[in-house]
Amino acid sequence: MADGTHVRFGVLANAWKETVRDAMADIAANLASAKLEVRRAIGRRINDPAERKRMLAALAVDRWAADPFLARQMRKHWRRGRSRTDHQIVVRADKYNTVTDGRGRLWLAVPGLERRQMVRIPLSTAVAPTGTLRLILRRGRVEVHYQIDASHMRSSQRPCGGRMVGVDKGYTEALTDSDGTHHGTGLGKLLTAESDRLKERNRRRAKLRSIANTAAARGDHAKAHRITANNLGIVKRDRQAARHRAQVRTEIFTAVHRVIDKAATVVAEDLTKRFAGRKTLGKNINRRLAGWTKGVSAEALRNVSERRGSALVHVNAAYTSQTCHRCGRLGRRGGDRFHCTCCGVVWQADVNAAINILQRAGDPDIALHTPHHVVRQILQDRTDRRRTRLPVQDSSPATAERRANHPNRSTTSKK
Ligand SMILES: [Zn+2]
Repeated sequence: MADGTHVRFGVLANAWKETVRDAMADIAANLASAKLEVRRAIGRRINDPAERKRMLAALAVDRWAADPFLARQMRKHWRRGRSRTDHQIVVRADKYNTVTDGRGRLWLAVPGLERRQMVRIPLSTAVAPTGTLRLILRRGRVEVHYQIDASHMRSSQRPCGGRMVGVDKGYTEALTDSDGTHHGTGLGKLLTAESDRLKERNRRRAKLRSIANTAAARGDHAKAHRITANNLGIVKRDRQAARHRAQVRTEIFTAVHRVIDKAATVVAEDLTKRFAGRKTLGKNINRRLAGWTKGVSAEALRNVSERRGSALVHVNAAYTSQTCHRCGRLGRRGGDRFHCTCCGVVWQADVNAAINILQRAGDPDIALHTPHHVVRQILQDRTDRRRTRLPVQDSSPATAERRANHPNRSTTSKK
């Protein structure tokens, strides 16, 4: 601003300043999230406590460039963020006003490029926006974004429950809790319908595109253009996608509210870790949707817990869907059933997982970042230990006598 760069854009100094501040905040947030990843990597890869401490301190004060490990990790995680400023503008709270006209329509007036000339925008809502606004121009419409204080939302006033509940996030149902109750049971149907619709739509679009390409190759550019403009647009496609996302979010947030109605503490799997190793979800739409859905569930749990005052505890979910919650042995999961060969019982797989997740919260050996293979070893050791504690099958008098003389001694120990 000092060298007058902003003058040639013709934007008022105030709007320019707020937008630059906004972009800087984006960059800072991007950096902070990269550092979070790097802190995780340090925890995973550096075993020496002193070295770990030194690295965390260097990271905290932005002295990571000189350290090879930190620099490499930062390069890996600090991806180029994208901050769009060419179609949006930030307007400070004291720079706009809202007026309701005679017909009850709400108008927003913001400063334009001409001094003292306000640009008036009709809003499609009766609730006036407050605080700093971000105006985004998208396909001929103006979106008005602003922050609201979530503590004033009606759903935030609902008190949370008093118990500790474990949840498993799923695809057919949004959540299954450790009491065996399913929440958000409409989720599977929503996702399947969307997946089927997308498959059919993509098939049709591919066909149209090939017709357009053939026409273009023939030299019929008018026809090719007509198809591209009229049949392969993105406005309707994006609107439908947004509607579907909104439906899914409602279903998931409702499910989370139901759980928090009875929970003071919700125990859930830590998703950030599971996603690290799974970069490609492939072309399968079902799986892609499922992956995104779990992210929304995690966000909803965080958001609603914070607003309603319940605690959210993340646990290591390794093997929680493959272990029997009663005997602790690894069993087999087939579809929505879990079969424990030891107990000879078939559990509902997601209920079994939810109970295991709940039990992980009090597990003294398995911490949040305990590696997968170590968790397996711990589980294995536990079942082995339990096996040696079993009474010997041999009921000969000699054994019985020895057991009577040394009641606390293991019968397999040598004298
Ligand atoms: Zn079992």
